[in-house]
Amino acid sequence: MRILVTAGPTREPIDPVRFISNRSSGKMGYAVAAEAAKRGHTVRLVSGPVSLAVPAGVERALVVTAEEMLEAVVERLGWCEALIMAAAVADWRPREVSPRKIRKDQMRMSLELERTPDILSRVKDGKGSRLHVGFAAETHEVLESAQRKLASKGLDLIVANDVSQPDAGFEVDTNRVCLIGADGTREELPVMAKSAVAGRIMDWIERRSGRR
Ligand code: C5P
Repeated sequence: MRILVTAGPTREPIDPVRFISNRSSGKMGYAVAAEAAKRGHTVRLVSGPVSLAVPAGVERALVVTAEEMLEAVVERLGWCEALIMAAAVADWRPREVSPRKIRKDQMRMSLELERTPDILSRVKDGKGSRLHVGFAAETHEVLESAQRKLASKGLDLIVANDVSQPDAGFEVDTNRVCLIGADGTREELPVMAKSAVAGRIMDWIERRSGRR
């Protein structure tokens, strides 16, 4: 299959030296890209700023902002048969970006923000048989909120994880997730290495598409 994976955070600049971002390390998305390539799929990775090596056999495009990630995904959408959005896209960006460094004494103490584009929602229309997989990193009401996102973003599968646990979510090498399918299936997995979680996600995709 032709698989497009996004990974890492996005950075939304305030000025040339400051930005808004989040704690995503990119490890989960890179593990999915590596696992898919290992299984013989053709994999393209759109990545925010991370310090990870490109997995073997994967073609990577680097982006910085949510807007750039949206463009890179849209450009590759017609090509792929499955889109796996593991990126932790920043939810807000400063309404104005200063072209010059804002001096300490010139900074107003509040920052006006606006929403970034929701990539999955933007690409859900006309998806046809392409599989869309999203992630929901939550600290509370994890499954309920993942279920809502599955519906509102028009996904086939959502990978829900409780990032309030020390052995799951951001930065660490393990994750504890629940795979929730739009077809009503639910697979609650124990804590496992992110590479093993990637394997279970790929198992789901291969089963669902009937292809290897
Ligand atoms: O709404 P929330 O950010 O929790 O949804 C998470 C899922 O949506 C992830 O798969 C993420 O990659 C995707 N997302 C997106 N565009 C955004 C924010 C999140 O596609 N602006």
